[in-house]
Amino acid sequence: MTGQTMFDKVWAAHEVVAETPDTPAILYIDLHLIHEVTSPQAFAMLKAQGWKVRRPERTLATMDHSTPTRSEEFFRDLPIKVDAASRQVQQLERNSQEFGVELFGLRDARRGIVHVISPELGATQPGMTIVCGDSHTSTHGAFGALAFGIGSTEVGHVFATQCLLQRKPRTFAVNVTGHLSATVTAKDLILAIIGRIGVSGGTGHVLEYRGEAIRALSMEERMTICNMSIEAGARAGMIAPDETTFAYLQGRPRAPKGAAWNDAASRWQSLPSDRDAAFDRSVDIDACTLTPMITYGTNPGMVLPIGGAIPIRTDDAVHDKALAYMGFHAGDSMLGKPVDVVFIGSCTNGRMEDLEAAARVLKGRKVARGVHLLIVPGSQQVKQAAEEAGLADIFKAAGADWRESGCSMCLGMNGDTVGAGKYSVSTSNRNFEGRQGVGARTLLASPYTAAASAIAGKVCDPRTVL
Ligand code: SF4
Repeated sequence: MTGQTMFDKVWAAHEVVAETPDTPAILYIDLHLIHEVTSPQAFAMLKAQGWKVRRPERTLATMDHSTPTRSEEFFRDLPIKVDAASRQVQQLERNSQEFGVELFGLRDARRGIVHVISPELGATQPGMTIVCGDSHTSTHGAFGALAFGIGSTEVGHVFATQCLLQRKPRTFAVNVTGHLSATVTAKDLILAIIGRIGVSGGTGHVLEYRGEAIRALSMEERMTICNMSIEAGARAGMIAPDETTFAYLQGRPRAPKGAAWNDAASRWQSLPSDRDAAFDRSVDIDACTLTPMITYGTNPGMVLPIGGAIPIRTDDAVHDKALAYMGFHAGDSMLGKPVDVVFIGSCTNGRMEDLEAAARVLKGRKVARGVHLLIVPGSQQVKQAAEEAGLADIFKAAGADWRESGCSMCLGMNGDTVGAGKYSVSTSNRNFEGRQGVGARTLLASPYTAAASAIAGKVCDPRTVL
């Protein structure tokens, strides 16, 4: 008998009822994260049935997608300008109170993007099952948790039962050997992985990122990697917990303490895949060969090394449509393409290390005329830490727009948008048509590339300024 993968171990520990050919498994959920956009319908379902939230103590609420990021709207008690956003925020306040769910509300110092604050609090832990009504819940897999996004109806199921109906995904090992060079980041690595396996390459699978290049990553870098698993079509992404994980978690407010910490840590040590575990699929990537990456099309798989040229693809209508939307041509180099907006933030790259990387590039330099550089921390705690470390002063001196935390320009629903026809270099995770506002054209890249492009006023290889 072969050993078990980490995914198999976590799945087996949470399987209440096994799947059959006709019925999915019933999976117990340890942590349910909610926000203002996908929870109203689920709360309405509970009310209609007269039900309670089954385990409110296993449910955490925050506001991020539709919250404004301008300080004026936060601290001067002005109404939120976007009406729908204002309604969602007020509704979550009422629902959380009525159902006894802990809410990190608009002016809470611990509020922020759901996938940033849960790890910050130590609520995200190895071996857990974690769900949220947001695709990028895969972020939490960086801790060795099985974490995935669910729809509004499923949010209601978890509210009512703390369980979920699920078909068991297959396993996919992404083996990353070697090491990343200093100017090549976790964002470049995950873009390269998606470029290699494609946007549907992981469909039906849980990815496990393995190998020495993964082990060398910090927790924030691991979160960047797992965050974008969904962009490869995968159900989730996972990285085995190790000393880096334990060092990150120990002492955080929701992490176990004292003897409970020792018990938890020894349990977590048994989570990594067994040496002889067999995966359904695998791919090998050599980190030493990678350079900074940038997308040129309308999905994250349309990506190339920053010095490369847009590929020529015959008889590929999707590719042709993407290039027409972007205003690019096959054979074009991405270097030197004009830039109107640069967005540094999101649950992919809105943490402290991302802001430190941006500051390394921006220190003592000025944003090019005509470019709007928007820097939005992933949480209020990240904001405070960046201000205390002097990063915000560097950003402001460079001419950047420094904001309150939130999803901001990752998606065009909170008032922060790029503008029709304009080009944005963005550290977020999706470059779909209109993702950053109607007609916006998005180039996904790392914080280094984004900051270097803001200074140059055009797409710039960060290695030339670092
Ligand atoms: S930053 Fe973007 S991807 Fe992340 S939770 Fe917000 S909207 Fe979703």
